[in-house]
Amino acid sequence: METGSVLVMNLLSISEHCANYTNAKKFLREKNILRSVAPRCGECHEEMSEIKFRQISIWRCKRHHGRKVSVREGSFLSGRKIEFEKFIMLSYTWAVGISVSGAASLTGLSKASTGKWFSMLRHVCSHHLSRNSSPETHDFSETSSLPPHFRGHVDDFVWRQRYAKSHQDAFDNILLHISQWYRVH
Ligand SMILES: [Zn+2]
Repeated sequence: METGSVLVMNLLSISEHCANYTNAKKFLREKNILRSVAPRCGECHEEMSEIKFRQISIWRCKRHHGRKVSVREGSFLSGRKIEFEKFIMLSYTWAVGISVSGAASLTGLSKASTGKWFSMLRHVCSHHLSRNSSPETHDFSETSSLPPHFRGHVDDFVWRQRYAKSHQDAFDNILLHISQWYRVH
C-alpha cells in the first residue's frame, strides 16, 4: 500500500497533465503515445507543420494545405474521440484500481465508455503478456483458452503482479506498454 502523501503527490502531477489540451498532448508525446516527429507530406515528402484547427492541433503540409494528418495518426488513440485529458485521467484511475463507476464520475465520461476504455487497457495487459511470456511463467498459455472478457481480468491481475508495485508503476507501465504496442516513430 502507498502512503497518503505519495498518492496526493501523484494526483498533483497528474492534474497538471490533465489541465488542458496542450499540457495533455505534451505529456502524451513525452510518453511516446503520440508522435512528436512531424510526418511527411504524401505529395512533396516535406515535413508537415503543426497548426491549430478548430481548437485542436493537426499536421498540415506547408505547401499542400489539403494534406492534413491527425496528431493521433498511428497511435493507440487513432480514430478515437476521447479527449487527451480524459484519456490520461482514465489511465490513472485504472492504474490506481478505481472502479468503472468511480472512474466515470471522476472523469465525467459515461459508465459505458469508461468500461470500454478499461477493457482496452486490460487488452494492453494481455497483449504485453502474450509478447513477453517465457516458458518459466506460462501466464499467457494458461489464460489463452479462457473467454476473452474473463481472460482480460486474469491478465490484468497477472500484469499488476508483475508491473504494478505501486500506483505510479502501474500508470507508467501501462503507458509504456501502449507505446511499445503502437509505435508512433
Ligand atoms: Zn506537400
